[in-house]
Amino acid sequence: MIAIRTTEEIELIRESGRLVAGALDLAAGLIERGATTGELDSEIENFIRSHDASPEFKGFHGYPASICTSVNEEVVHGIPGTRRLEDGDIVGIDVGVRKNGYIADAARTFAVGEVPEETTRLLDVTQRALEAGLGTVRAGVHLTDVSHAIQGVVEEAGYTVVRELAGHGVGTELHEPPEIPNFGPPGYGPILGTGMVLAIEPMVNAGGPAVETLEDGWTVVTADRKLSAHFEHTVVVTDDGADILTVAGDGAA
Ligand code: MG
Repeated sequence: MIAIRTTEEIELIRESGRLVAGALDLAAGLIERGATTGELDSEIENFIRSHDASPEFKGFHGYPASICTSVNEEVVHGIPGTRRLEDGDIVGIDVGVRKNGYIADAARTFAVGEVPEETTRLLDVTQRALEAGLGTVRAGVHLTDVSHAIQGVVEEAGYTVVRELAGHGVGTELHEPPEIPNFGPPGYGPILGTGMVLAIEPMVNAGGPAVETLEDGWTVVTADRKLSAHFEHTVVVTDDGADILTVAGDGAA
């Protein structure tokens, strides 16, 4: 069952989404100033809590931090710590916020200082893949129409999509149905309906699609240790398209 959210519920998720966007904007500034991943985590946790909200990832299946910080070959679920980000790194910041019982979830991958042109291209393609997925969302399309649009952008650019991880419904739980793969043929899965809230999140590898989990039990890395990027938005399905909820202001797309 995919939840259909009321207008009131959607506004509550949007309120959480604004905080997620604010947290990611805060991360951008801290990264520019040379923060460690642990400093990012504590600053963002403080920001979230100062808005009467809580970091949804903390304690989720025992996750030990408020955000995920995934550097270079780390795909997702990197745990913040003492690592100082260095010029040429990329870092994916993933943030989930719960306020008034409703959750929004988004991620961006940032370049730290100067990065090679090929790295910038990976970030651009991943962002464009997310945009292609969002551009496909509207009431009446099949779920895998979105998956297929994402995969098309990624593979046309010569990159690969991570298969083992997917986007998801979100609302009162962090992970709700449906699971949203970032690949596959169009025309399958549930038909999207107005009021469904989805977290769409392509994870794109510069090399092969295979990933593995490190011994910490969380950090997912590329099997070939090449770079990976991740962008995510929480959106609500409307008759006309995707209304992005994880933005600072009016998110009509
Ligand atoms: Mg997510």
